[in-house]
This record gives sequence, C-alpha cells and structure tokens, in this order.
Amino acid sequence: VTTGVVERGTIGQTFVDWPAEQRFLTPSFTGNGFGSTDLNAVHPDTSPAFSLGVDYPSGSEYAGYLAAVVEHFKIPVATGTTVAAVQADRRSGFTVDLVGHGGRGERVVARSIVWAGGEFADQRFPRLVGDSPVVHTSDPVAWRPADEQRVVVIGGYESGIDIGCHHVDLGSRVTVIDPAHPWDAGDGSDPSFLLAPRTRQRLRDAIGSGRLTLTRGRAHAVRPRESGGFLVRTLAGAAYACDVPPIAATGYGPGLGPVTGLFARRSDGWPALSEDDESTTTPGLFLSGPAVRHDDLRFCFVYKYRQRYAQIAATIGRRFSRDVSALEAWRDAGMWTDDLSCCGVRCAR
Ligand SMILES: Cc1cc2nc3c(=O)[nH]c(=O)nc-3n(C[C@H](O)[C@H](O)[C@H](O)COP(=O)(O)OP(=O)(O)OC[C@H]3O[C@@H](n4cnc5c(N)ncnc54)[C@H](O)[C@@H]3O)c2cc1C
Repeated sequence: VTTGVVERGTIGQTFVDWPAEQRFLTPSFTGNGFGSTDLNAVHPDTSPAFSLGVDYPSGSEYAGYLAAVVEHFKIPVATGTTVAAVQADRRSGFTVDLVGHGGRGERVVARSIVWAGGEFADQRFPRLVGDSPVVHTSDPVAWRPADEQRVVVIGGYESGIDIGCHHVDLGSRVTVIDPAHPWDAGDGSDPSFLLAPRTRQRLRDAIGSGRLTLTRGRAHAVRPRESGGFLVRTLAGAAYACDVPPIAATGYGPGLGPVTGLFARRSDGWPALSEDDESTTTPGLFLSGPAVRHDDLRFCFVYKYRQRYAQIAATIGRRFSRDVSALEAWRDAGMWTDDLSCCGVRCAR
C-alpha cells in the first residue's frame, strides 16, 4: 500500500502565505507529558511551543514546525504538485490528475482520498453594491499601515477584531461593522462562537484608546467619495467614511477545490459528512481540517479537527483489514474523539 501527501506549494504553504502580522490565536504550551497535548500540535509526540519557543506562533513559524514533523516522521510529501481534477469510480476508486513542476501532468489512482486543502484559498467577500475595491484580511495589503487615517472593517468576528486592533495600534481610527455584533456574543463557551481571550484583551485596549468604533449593521454598498477615499453604507442607511479601501473580514468557505462536486451540501452550504468524516455521496473520500462540521459542532481549530485524524485513519485501515491498534496511542493522548455527542462545551464560568 502506498500512502502519500500532495501539496501544490511547499509544506505549510497556507501558513507561509499568512500576512506577516497574523499570529495563532490558540496558544501553544508543552503540557504533553501531563496529558494536555499542546493545543496546536498535529501529533501527540510533538509541541510547537517546544519546537519554536513561542506561545502564539506566526504563520511562517508554524510552517517550520510542520516541516520538522514531516522530516521527523518521514512523511512522503510531493511538494510543488497540484491536484487539478479528481474522478470517482465506484469500482476502481479515484483517478487523480496532478500537475507538477513546469506544468508536467501525471495521472494516479487512489483507493481512498483525504481532502485537506484548507480554507485559505476560498476567501469570502461580502455582497456589495458598487465596484469599489475591497481588500480581504488574507491579503497582506489589508495589514499595511493606513497612515493614521480612517479604516472600515466589514465583519467583526476573530479576523475583523484582529485587524481592527492592529490598525488602532498603528494610530488609525477604525470602524468595525457587523449585523451580528459577534464581539459581545455571550452565550456558551465554545471558542468557535466566542472571541478568543487574547482577542478580547486586545479589544479592551483598543476600545480604551478611543479610536475603535464597533457598530451593528450590514454593509450594503461601497462608493468612492469625491473628496477621496470611500463611503461604506449599511442597509439601514448609515454611512461610514474611510480613507483606504474597506477591509473584508468575512471569512472563508470550505475550500473543496477539485472535489467540490463529490460532496453533498448541508442546508447551510457546508459539506455533508458521515460520522467518519466521509463524503455521503462518494465513498472513500474523506474531509479533514477546518471545514469539518457535524450538526452544530465546528471543527475549525487544530485542537478540534486533529481529534478526527485517528477516526479517518481507523476507518480506512479497517476497510482494508489492517491492524489499527497502534492508533489507540492517539486516544490515550486525548487526540481521538469518535463519539461526537460529547464535544459540546458550556463551561460553568
Ligand atoms: C486567518 C486564519 C487564522 C487561523 N488561526 C487559527 C488559530 O489560531 N488556531 C487554529 O487552530 N486554527 C486557526 N485557523 C484555522 C486554520 O485554517 C487551520 O488551523 C489550518 O490552516 C488548517 O490546516 P489544513 O491543513 O486543514 O489547511 P491549510 O493549512 O490551509 O493547508 C492546506 C494545504 O493544501 C494545499 N492545497 C490546497 N489545494 C490544493 C490542491 N488542489 N492541490 C494540492 N495542494 C493543495 C495548500 O497549498 C495548503 O498548503 C486559522 C485559519 C485562518 C484562515
């Protein structure tokens, strides 16, 4: 049996592509020896805090950790190779078209595929009237100093507050617009629905500066102003001026790329998955990463979706009559959730 990873760029490409100012919001700490595996580790015997010596890694630091994991465990990765197309055939499995260096094409067959293409390339923009430019938070341009001018951020969850605080720190006056006012979402304690503690801390400081305005509203139109800059209008008719193109902090889609048609969709548009994270329409195709959702559970952080690596591995292994007992080490390390009913969180205080 041959197993391999195909990566269109380099190992950790998404993290290499993160704007330099962006850091992890989930902290790293080496608790591994005491049953608390580092929240950002992808293997129970590793810890980014230990390897990197930082608690909130930058994208390039985390890419360095991933490269070290690949080297240590001798994982076969074909870098510089893009999965261009995937065809499923119920009898023979999958035909995968790869495009490598210099546009060289190759066709391989696979019995099982785990799609782990991530979300970063699937940026979501708000639907706006007018054709004025809007810059997504994934674009380094959005993080450039705005020379203490006015900045408008559309979207007020994690990335919106992150970039809003960044521009406040640089001296700009920032308005964050969001109809759902996620900055004060209070119920429950799942970080997928609540600002991370570090972000809340930064938010308090930014509000204290007097240069941050958080406002409820749905951005509807962006138009250039005759005097320069842009005007962002909300559906309710409020208008906010900014001197640089508005920043879209409106998140990401599931990023399924060439396997988009091989997954059915839930009513909210996210991929429909079996209890083993397998496509409900294409047996043998699994999804791993931040787009995994089961009912109301969102596996959007490393510490969440890593709980499903062993589940996918065990499902594939058992299907081909392999001994999967070694995976129990993942359960022992607290890195295997096979009963999804126990993931809901509501901390006492
Ligand atoms: C801005 C941002 C901040 C985040 N912060 C955190 C955080 O603080 N903590 C946390 O736990 N999570 C965070 N996340 C969630 C984050 O998405 C994941 O933790 C992580 O990036 C997901 O890993 P992944 O391997 O599934 O996807 P990615 O890291 O995106 O990796 C996918 C890889 O697949 C490659 N690829 C894509 N398409 C193809 C193709 N067709 N052919 C070949 N290769 C392909 C890409 O080049 C990429 O290297 C953040 C996400 C974003 C976008």
